[in-house]
Amino acid sequence: MDDFKNRVSDYKLPLIILGICCLLMAILLVRENETEEVPSDQTVAEACYGVPVLNYHKIENKHHSLSVPIADFEQHMAWLSERGYHTITPDELYAFITEGKALPDNPVMITFDDGYSDNYLNAYPIMKKYGFTGTIFVVTSFLGKYNGYMTWEQAKELSDNGFSIESHTISHKSLTELTDDQLREELRESRQVLADKLGKSADYLAYPTGTYNLHIAQMVKEAGYKAAFTIRYDNVSRDTNVYAIERVPIFHTEHTNRDFLDRLDYGPLYSKLGWVKN
Ligand SMILES: [Zn+2]
Repeated sequence: MDDFKNRVSDYKLPLIILGICCLLMAILLVRENETEEVPSDQTVAEACYGVPVLNYHKIENKHHSLSVPIADFEQHMAWLSERGYHTITPDELYAFITEGKALPDNPVMITFDDGYSDNYLNAYPIMKKYGFTGTIFVVTSFLGKYNGYMTWEQAKELSDNGFSIESHTISHKSLTELTDDQLREELRESRQVLADKLGKSADYLAYPTGTYNLHIAQMVKEAGYKAAFTIRYDNVSRDTNVYAIERVPIFHTEHTNRDFLDRLDYGPLYSKLGWVKN
């Protein structure tokens, strides 16, 4: 019996060491799985096909789904920069779709809808720091008129510094609710105002509330726009219809930053599998 006890105590030390090793292995395995939540660039490149066109609205610290907090937005820009993303203009995206023109490595287009003043006050300084540019679709009759929207001076400054200021119509009415005459006016007048105020032609439109149909797309084309952006959730490929360009919506959620990475890396995959998260 004593002999047996001695034998057990002989094995005690190696058993304890073995136990500690197993525990360390388990911890390492768990940590490896955790880091997989933020995929490597290689995985990102494989999972991500096409060009993400990110769609923001407001960049401000309010508890609202359209308002991405400023610190979160800064984190998004830092991630894009760390991962070697290059911001592209609507003209570059258009040339990619229609002529197959090459884009810079890791292209991303950053868009904002409506023309809020926080785009100028909060987003612009952060984007400038990272050397990024963006596209803002403005509601032309709201600028310089309502609180919370940019002034035309601010829009002009952005336009003169590499941003594209494009049309989100005159009044932000859903285009499917309008008569053809009203529709024509919304499309033509907003384009004209932008050209007059900024000294550049506005060639792109974002459909207010995202609603459009084939007839509307045809009228957008007739009004002289080269392309139009929807809120359909996907990345843009060479097969994209230029009057129905997809975007990746970025909202303020319970996990804004995790959702951002998720959508950037796997959004198109989710949408193709029918797992669209809205
Ligand atoms: Zn809008």
